[in-house]
Amino acid sequence: MTRRGLANVTLIRRCLPYLRPYRGSAALVVALFLLNGALVLLAPWPFKFLIDHSLGDRPPPPWLATWLGDEHFRVRLLYVCAAAEVLVILLNQVLLVWEKYVSTRLEQRLDRDFRSRLFAHAMELSLAYHDNHRSGMLIYLITNQGEALAQLLMSLPVVVKSVAMLVGMLVVLWTMHWSLALVSFGVIPGMFFASRYYATRMRDRIERTRELEGGALTVIHESLAMLRVIVAFGREGLEHRRYVDAAQRAMDARLGVTVRQTLFSLVVRLSTGIGRAVAWTFGGLLALAGRITVGDLTIVLSYIDQVYEPLETITYTYTGWQDQLVNLAASFRLLDTPPDIAEAPQPVVRERCAGEVEFRDVDFAYAGRADTLRGISFRARPGQVTAIVGPTGAGKTTLVSLIPRFYDAVRGSVLVDGRDVRDLGIEFLRRQVSVVLQDPALFSKTIRDNLRYGRLDASEEEIVAAARAANAHEFISRLPQGYDTVLGERGSRLSGGERQRICVARAFLKDAPILILDEPTSAIDSRTESVILDALDRLMEGRTTFMIAHRLSTVRRADWILVMDQGRLVEQGTHDQLLAADGLYRQLNDLQARQAERRAAARALKP
Ligand code: ADP
Repeated sequence: MTRRGLANVTLIRRCLPYLRPYRGSAALVVALFLLNGALVLLAPWPFKFLIDHSLGDRPPPPWLATWLGDEHFRVRLLYVCAAAEVLVILLNQVLLVWEKYVSTRLEQRLDRDFRSRLFAHAMELSLAYHDNHRSGMLIYLITNQGEALAQLLMSLPVVVKSVAMLVGMLVVLWTMHWSLALVSFGVIPGMFFASRYYATRMRDRIERTRELEGGALTVIHESLAMLRVIVAFGREGLEHRRYVDAAQRAMDARLGVTVRQTLFSLVVRLSTGIGRAVAWTFGGLLALAGRITVGDLTIVLSYIDQVYEPLETITYTYTGWQDQLVNLAASFRLLDTPPDIAEAPQPVVRERCAGEVEFRDVDFAYAGRADTLRGISFRARPGQVTAIVGPTGAGKTTLVSLIPRFYDAVRGSVLVDGRDVRDLGIEFLRRQVSVVLQDPALFSKTIRDNLRYGRLDASEEEIVAAARAANAHEFISRLPQGYDTVLGERGSRLSGGERQRICVARAFLKDAPILILDEPTSAIDSRTESVILDALDRLMEGRTTFMIAHRLSTVRRADWILVMDQGRLVEQGTHDQLLAADGLYRQLNDLQARQAERRAAARALKP
């Protein structure tokens, strides 16, 4: 077997475990399929009896003659044949409906399971993975390519049935008339080689087409996520053209695939057509020579017709697999990507941690970047407020991202309560950390659901108490639908300050011992800022807090200050110590003091 053939077999074998929970249904589908195949085998027989014994002159088998009697034998047989035909068709259709129901249910379940698995795995992968992969492509993979597993597995009974039918018919044909059978087999090698040729030539083309189709979807996804920017810059036309171009490329590629698929089916149909024509000619000559009855010839020819049906089905299914194998390979590639934030073999889980955080000589770099963080060491005692300051790009956000293991340190270790975060259960660790980001992101659900995200089993009273503590209850109550107000995507329909207060309330409900505030007020006007700062002060009480802040006025009250510059921790200490040290902190402090003076002077000059 070729390397690709082996890879295909491996892919198909990897699909089988997904069938395990539905073994009963799968067995039923196969049984119904086979039963149906057997009925199809029976279908021509009433016709043969009609031609041979009712209309023709061949003597009937003794059981039939005894059953129907001599008188009006031909007419009675005609009725019986007609009735038998209806019965066979009825049975066939009833089985078909039953089989359709069972197989659709099975296919839908397989589909749901596999896509859920892909989705769960995509969420398990680290943020570093998502930094480097476009989410549009992932959406395409989960929604479109993920269907391949169910499709492929469901095509297996079709193939089994077709092979069984093919073998059955070949045997019947062989015993009926071996020389005619041999003539009809002539097309089989031709179809085999055509399928092989098609499969090897099409695979790469299908793969390219799938990538282009995913690319087009990615443009839509990105544009909708960036809609505000697009509208602000008036770039709707540009994005539309970008989509049209991507869609055009995907369409051209798909057209190329379809044309080849159609040409291939032309070759298949033509082969069976030629096979049929040869069998007719050969059989006709035999009949003319009186070496076969017309009844026999009719039934042999109708069998040959029916041999070709499963043969065509097998060929089409095999070639259809090329599409599914491409999709499966992509899906399993995603499942095979190990989450680089891995759970420890024996993860440590406790009720709640005290909240001590320590960095010991930590280095970190994003993929393709060097030295994002270097040699970071510091310690925050439980309940202590640590401010992190420094110019943009200094690595402040990156530093705090290492605490809940959004990323892992490359060297050194991050410890929580004296344990390396890599030894702690990931879910446990993340339950110990609340993060309030600069850009408050909310779900397009009700305000209540958004708040409850902090703790899913929170009671109504707890939700309201958290909203009050976050200075959010008042504005929520003023909304016509109050807590039932449904937000727009990412929380639109609320102001930035309102969104931020909901995020703070969410953090109250989560009640984690470690709190990370990543410039939560930087995008908010100074009047709203004080309301949020007030809420944050309450939130910080009793929690180990890391506060990234630009305005040094908010930093002053911190117990400890870390000063970052170009990935290094250049100074640390209290406000007074750092001022006295006369380093970067002092420079930043003086710069901000001068800016504040200038602003005050400008305000004083205003009439
Ligand atoms: P700060 O919070 O101090 O502004 P960041 O921690 O956000 O700085 O960024 C530190 C450095 O890491 C910057 O040079 C930035 O370009 C880079 N960086 C931030 N996020 C990523 C990322 N996801 N992938 C690659 N580089 C990143």
